[in-house]
Amino acid sequence: MSYDDSQPPAPRRFRNSTLLIVLVALVPTCLAGWLVWQAMSGPGDSGPQKVLPLPTPAATSPATTPPATSPGSSPHTSRPPSKSAPASAPSSSSADNKAPTGKGPLAGKVVVIDPGHNPNNYNHGRDIARQVNIGNSSKECDTTGTSTNGGYTEARFTLDVSHRLRTLLQAEGATVEFTQDENRSFGPCVDERARIGNKAKADAVVSVHGDGSAAGNRGFHVILPASVHAGIADTRPIVASSHDLGVRIAGNFVRDTGSAPSNYIGGGTGLDTRSDLGGLNLSTVPKVFIECGNMRDPKDAGLMTSASWRQKAAQGIADGIISFLHQ
Ligand code: ZN
Repeated sequence: MSYDDSQPPAPRRFRNSTLLIVLVALVPTCLAGWLVWQAMSGPGDSGPQKVLPLPTPAATSPATTPPATSPGSSPHTSRPPSKSAPASAPSSSSADNKAPTGKGPLAGKVVVIDPGHNPNNYNHGRDIARQVNIGNSSKECDTTGTSTNGGYTEARFTLDVSHRLRTLLQAEGATVEFTQDENRSFGPCVDERARIGNKAKADAVVSVHGDGSAAGNRGFHVILPASVHAGIADTRPIVASSHDLGVRIAGNFVRDTGSAPSNYIGGGTGLDTRSDLGGLNLSTVPKVFIECGNMRDPKDAGLMTSASWRQKAAQGIADGIISFLHQ
C-alpha cells in the first residue's frame, strides 16, 4: 500500500512549469500527489491553517492512539505535567557544521538541522533530566530517545538522516548548521536547540526524530508549533510560516518515501500541532519537528534501519525545505 517502497520514482524537485505538469499528473493518481499538491499549492500562504486531506482509507488503519509508553521512548510524544523550575542558559557552543554558502538556488539561505537527542545522552541521565524553562512550563533538558526493538537507536537514526539532509541542502547552495553532531557529551538541551536556530537567523529549522509508540502504529508526522505566548515563549510570529514549512515537508515526504502519514496521530493528515515542546516554543524562526516513523513498529523499523529508505527520508525533508525556501 502506501508503505510500499515500490512507488514509481518521482522527480526530485519541481520547478516552474515542470512543477505544474508533474503535479497535475500526480494529483489524480495517488495520495502522494494529492498531498504534494496541497503542500505546493499555497506559496506565501500565511492565512488560516490549511489541513491536508485525509488519505485514502487504505493508507491508514483505525487509530488506537495509545500513548508512547515504552521506556526511553521519544518523550516529545509524552506530555508530562509541568512543574516550576528555574530557567537555564547553557552556553556551550553548537556543532560548527556551517559550510560556506555556495552557488545554487538556496545560496544565502540558512538551514539549521536539529538531530534529535544525542548518542551520548545514555551516559548522562542526570544531566539531561535537568528541567529547563520552555515558556509555558518546564521540561527535561533532553532525553535519550527511543530505539528499534533490535537496538538501532533514534539518536543514530536522526544523525544519519541529518547528514544525508545536509548533503542535499548544501548541494543546493544552502548554509547548513547542526545543533549537535555527536560532538558534545550530551544534549544540547531543548532550549539551547531552539536558541541555535534563532542565533543563526535560520530561514528554516527541522528537528529530526523517530517516534517510540506501540507496534501497529505506523507512519510519519510533522509537528508544528502551536501559538504559545507565555513567559519566554512567543511563537505567534512563526506559527503560519512553520505550518507552511511543515505542510511542504509532509507532502514531499509522502512522495519521496512512499510512506503514509501517521495512522495514530494527526487524523491522517501527517500533521500535529503541539505547545509542549521547548524546541518549538522557544523558536523565533520557522521550525518543525518530523517523526519519520515509529521505531517500535517492526515494519516501520524495517524501513528506518534501511540506508536507502533513510536517503529517501532525507530527500523528502530536503524537498520540503527547498519548496519552502523557493517561494
Ligand atoms: Zn525523538
